[in-house]
Amino acid sequence: MEVFKTVKEIQEYLVKTESKNLGFVATMGALHQAHISLIELSQKENELTVCSIFVNPKQFNKKEDLVKYPRDTEADLKKLEAVNCDIVFIPSVEEMYPKKVEREFHFGILSEVMEAEHRPGHFNGVAIVIERFFEILNPTHAYFGKKDYQQLAVIKALTKQINSSVKIVGCPIYREKNGLAMSSRNERLSANEKEEAGVINKTLKYVCEHKNLTVPALKTYFLTEMNQHLNFESEYFEIVDEITLQPIQEWGGANKYIAFTAVNVNGVRLIDNMTIIN
Ligand code: AMP
Repeated sequence: MEVFKTVKEIQEYLVKTESKNLGFVATMGALHQAHISLIELSQKENELTVCSIFVNPKQFNKKEDLVKYPRDTEADLKKLEAVNCDIVFIPSVEEMYPKKVEREFHFGILSEVMEAEHRPGHFNGVAIVIERFFEILNPTHAYFGKKDYQQLAVIKALTKQINSSVKIVGCPIYREKNGLAMSSRNERLSANEKEEAGVINKTLKYVCEHKNLTVPALKTYFLTEMNQHLNFESEYFEIVDEITLQPIQEWGGANKYIAFTAVNVNGVRLIDNMTIIN
């Protein structure tokens, strides 16, 4: 496993490898099994796989959240070594952004709902960092988890806007035994909170299995369930069209629907989503 910290070093190495395809997995570290599943998918489909570890300050709309974000590079490197990841890129902020970046992306209606609405500037920061990684690494494939489904949609829109030929691959959501979506942020939950947070998944499941009920009734059900838990604060719950990601108020369109939520559990912001089967 090769580990690089500078753009110059990794670019020189990549030129030397002459590999025909390169899979890229962007992470913010504090790696868990879901990150590893993205790496394994990339390994199956590419000659070489690069995993980046970079806590991108530009995508945090709250400074406190950035400061509290879990970091453990040593443990991350051990996990990557164990799965034979070819290349790890751990740049500093200065290496990623040597000059001031003030780029503004526009993603139309994707930028108006859910994560975009509740985390102003978040997707602009994601787009800035992903464009920069694509520029540095020039991957053929890039892997993103469906846990961050709206992010995946934004990145697909970004690649179109910047005329990139990178193939964007959406990967399944990995969950703990109790259904809680894996997340680096889960490290900040106590064992009890983790157990209790399984109810987010259970309630999403209930919603997805009750298309016989109205959309407003399901919204009320979800929010009421969350409110029953002390320390839970639901930021939003929406049922949206899977293509446009616009919230619906009643059933009836041709596309599938996805239920999305963000819930703060004792101040730890957790997101999840689930496709509603017709
Ligand atoms: P992060 O380190 O949180 O920025 O995540 C890095 C990548 O892993 C992103 O593409 C995420 O969508 C993906 N990811 C994180 N958690 C999960 C999960 N539970 N299931 C699937 N993908 C995930």
